[in-house]
Amino acid sequence: MNLNQFIPTRPFAPEPRFLWPDGKKCAVMLCFDVDGETTALSEDPALERRRTTMSQCAYGPRVGVPRILGLLKHLEVLGTFFIPSWIVERHPKMTDAVFAAGHEIGAHGHLHEKLSNLSPEEELGVLEKSLGILEKQIGQRPLGYRAPWFEINPGTVDLLAANGFVYNASLMADDVPFIHANGLVEIPGQWLLEDWEQFAFNAEPAWGFIPEDCDKVFRLWWREFEAMRDYGCCFVLTLHPWLSGRPSRVQLLERLIFGIIDTGDAWIATGSEIAAWVKAHPDARREIDFDQEVAS
Ligand SMILES: [Zn+2]
Repeated sequence: MNLNQFIPTRPFAPEPRFLWPDGKKCAVMLCFDVDGETTALSEDPALERRRTTMSQCAYGPRVGVPRILGLLKHLEVLGTFFIPSWIVERHPKMTDAVFAAGHEIGAHGHLHEKLSNLSPEEELGVLEKSLGILEKQIGQRPLGYRAPWFEINPGTVDLLAANGFVYNASLMADDVPFIHANGLVEIPGQWLLEDWEQFAFNAEPAWGFIPEDCDKVFRLWWREFEAMRDYGCCFVLTLHPWLSGRPSRVQLLERLIFGIIDTGDAWIATGSEIAAWVKAHPDARREIDFDQEVAS
């Protein structure tokens, strides 16, 4: 069979979903969720005794983050690091190093708590605690929030706006940013562009699957980048340093970011830079949801 016969002769060239700065075709947000030891502790505090499981998670803040910081410096790009405040207290110099390198630090719970398990009062308590610890460590309040496990509650968007956040990066109903009714910017993500599904594995407790080949993962993420660039989308990549800080995966990331830079027309930005652009240019978004007016 000749596969070439299926290549369209008149390719579909959609209008861009969003107009990005300086005529760029798409935006790219590189997110590093530094969950470290809270990956285990938020599942069960008794896992603290499981020294090997805990050490696999601690590899992220101890070895993964320094290695990733080196790569980002080499490539001259900035990332957005969502750090649970328990990790900030346990690894203060790691947190300082991320901030000193110019990267953005966002809130990500205290012990990576699942919001669906919390009452509204508990959710507020965790948010205030994490903000206090982050502010004490880096001297400023974070502007961005990523919910642990990406899952938020019905009241979370208003809670974030009331606590001075500019953006949330937790929902998945779009592939370009939008502005909530209360003014909070949403920068949507997706599970396809996440490293847990590709690389996570622990024998017991059983996490993840057989780790994937980096070449396969490169193809998966690169194809999505190319297509999101064609559609004018916001490519939100979410990586965990205890997974993506391993050597072959850092080289995968190097290959990916280098390819993105090499296109010359992708805007690599932090969450707050993207949110500021969205707030200043509300007409940049192209609505394609037929029921958008009904839904809002
Ligand atoms: Zn997380």
